[in-house]
Amino acid sequence: LQGYVGFANLPNQVHRKSVKTGFQFTCMVVGESGLGKSTLVNTLFNTQLYPPKEIAELTAELPQTVEIKSTTADIEENGVKLKLTVVDTPGFGDFVNNEESWKPILDDIESRCDAYLEQENRVNRRKMADNRIHACLYFISPTGHALKAVDIEFMRRLHTRVNLIPIIAKADTMTEEEVVAFKERILADINYHQIQIYQAPVYEYDDMETIAENSEIMSKIPFAVVGSDKEFDVDGRRVRGRMYPWGIIEVDNEDHCDFVKLRQMLIRTHMEELKEYTNDVLYENYRTEKLTAMGI
Ligand code: GDP
Ligand code: MG
Repeated sequence: LQGYVGFANLPNQVHRKSVKTGFQFTCMVVGESGLGKSTLVNTLFNTQLYPPKEIAELTAELPQTVEIKSTTADIEENGVKLKLTVVDTPGFGDFVNNEESWKPILDDIESRCDAYLEQENRVNRRKMADNRIHACLYFISPTGHALKAVDIEFMRRLHTRVNLIPIIAKADTMTEEEVVAFKERILADINYHQIQIYQAPVYEYDDMETIAENSEIMSKIPFAVVGSDKEFDVDGRRVRGRMYPWGIIEVDNEDHCDFVKLRQMLIRTHMEELKEYTNDVLYENYRTEKLTAMGI
C-alpha cells in the first residue's frame, strides 16, 4: 500500500453524480518556516507539489510579510480524479513581531468567500468556481511547552471562518511521553481560549464500526505527524520515514506517529464533511454577517 493516498474512496463519501465531475479540495497550511509544511503536503498526497529544491532552499530567503501562495495539482488514483489546491502562507510566525500575522490569512479566506458569494448572486449560476478553503492545517512547533501567543491569536481569529486542524509538527523530535503531555497541554490551551477546532459530526445512523473509526481519529487531535520524502528498507519492507542512529521513524506506522490518522480523516473519510461544513456553516455564517452589515 506504499504510496496509496486513499482518495479513490471518495465516491463512497458522496453521491455518484460527483464522480463524473471529479473532486476538488482546497487545503491551507499555516505555521512557521521550517516546520515541515511542504514536506507533509508531499507526503500526504504522495506528490511533488513542492519540488525538493524548494524544500532545501527553505530558510534562504524569508519573506518580509506573510505571503499567500496557491498551488494546484491534478492527481488520479484508480480512475478517480482529484483537483487539489494547497494554499501556503510563507512568512507566518517568522517575524519579531507576529501580532498581525493572522490578518492577511483571514483576508484571503474571506475574499475567497466573497468571490463565491458574488457568483451566487449572478444570473447564471451553472458554473460556480469554489475556491474556498476547506481545511486549514495549523502546524504547532514541537517545543513540548505550550501554545505560543501567535498560535492562540491565529486560532482565535480564524476558528469561525475555517475548519482548523491543529497538528504537532516534526513529532519525531519528541519522545512518546513528551507528545502525550504536549497534546494535553495544547488541548487545555485550546479549551481555555474557547477555540473551536474541527469536530467530525456523529450521525445516529452510522454503524458501530464507523463511529469507532471516527472517534479513534478524533482522539488523536492534535495529530503528531512526521513527514518525509525518503524511503528505507525495514525487514524487507519499503517504508517512508526518517532515519536516526537508533532506528527509523516510519511515517505510515501508527505506532510511530499520527500521520495515517490525519490522512485518513482528510482524505479517506472526511473530505466531503469538511467541504459540507465549510459551505453549510462557516460560509453561511459569513454570508449572513456580511449581508446584515450591508443592511440587506
Ligand atoms: P516548511 O518551511 O514548513 O515548508 O518546511 P519544509 O517542508 O521545507 O521542511 C523544512 C526542513 O525540515 C527540511 O529540511 C525537511 O527535511 C525537514 N522536515 C520536514 N518534515 C520533518 C519531520 O517530520 N521531522 C523532521 N525531523 N524534519 C522534518
Ligand atoms: Mg514550505
